[in-house]
Amino acid sequence: MNNPLLTVNNLKLHFPVKSGLFHRTRLYNRAVDGVNLQVQSGETLGLVGESGCGKTSLGRCIARLYNPTSGEIHFDGQEISHLTAKAMLPIRQDIQMIFQDPMESLNARHTVGDILEEPLIIHKTGNQASRRQRVRSLLDIVGLPTRSISRYPFEFSGGQRQRIGIARAIAMNPKLIICDEPVSALDVSIQSQILNLLIELQQEFGLSYLFIAHDLAVVKHVSDRIAIMYLGKIIEEGPSDLIYAQAMHPYTESLINAIPIPDPHRKPERAIISGDVPSPINPPTGCRFHPRCPKQFGPCGGTEPATRMLPGQHQVSCHLTELQDAS
Ligand code: SF4
Repeated sequence: MNNPLLTVNNLKLHFPVKSGLFHRTRLYNRAVDGVNLQVQSGETLGLVGESGCGKTSLGRCIARLYNPTSGEIHFDGQEISHLTAKAMLPIRQDIQMIFQDPMESLNARHTVGDILEEPLIIHKTGNQASRRQRVRSLLDIVGLPTRSISRYPFEFSGGQRQRIGIARAIAMNPKLIICDEPVSALDVSIQSQILNLLIELQQEFGLSYLFIAHDLAVVKHVSDRIAIMYLGKIIEEGPSDLIYAQAMHPYTESLINAIPIPDPHRKPERAIISGDVPSPINPPTGCRFHPRCPKQFGPCGGTEPATRMLPGQHQVSCHLTELQDAS
């Protein structure tokens, strides 16, 4: 296997929580708490978890929109976790983001032409004529008419606005795009159009995606591998087909069970886990999932499970794998 495009080692992002009369930092929100992952060139890694599990913070940390507390981010052979904003500028061409809400991520007072030209200006690419030609080409690539160039974001539908966001993300020919819930705010009928566009662009331009979503059904459609995140940590990771067919972690099983079954007469085979993700300020001891886990036993509340590599490049952090070894 080639060197990965992206390698994240023991990455942590702890936000200080100020409290008390003098607003001192007494606690930390451990949004990302020791994450390891890799993305190969040209592949899609789906990153899945409930709201509040830290996946958006992780994506923004990798893109260096947030500064990590500790750990390493190796991108395209370079360690970037502590580069200054100036040193990050050329790397930002290669790492782009697509956000959940295109209306919030697009400047409402700028025309689409100005929005798409902005990254070309920031990175000092071409002259005005060549940049405008590139903008027209980008609109064509994402399936929008050239006349969109002089219109404003509010004049477009949600799906069209996400196409503008995608055009902006690919403007500098990036290597990695971090897609943060890119279809969650869209109608179901539009979601598949945007997902298909992302797949086409990946095939045409050799893009790599870190695809963040709370919905495993959406991620299955696009991912080569899937990483499941819970309370700041990756708790299971493996090839997409293996995760769906042989999920080992009870949390992953619950996410799979939450996928709607398109048959009103068929009932889910297993219970869907209830309750909310605990606070990352004071996470549970031992396995962080143990207060909600229907399979918890002896060591779960006191000892954090190690990450074990199973056959088929399948990694799981759960004490149940130790029981299987012993039997
Ligand atoms: Fe459940 Fe224990 Fe596995 Fe955690 S380690 S997921 S509590 S069985």
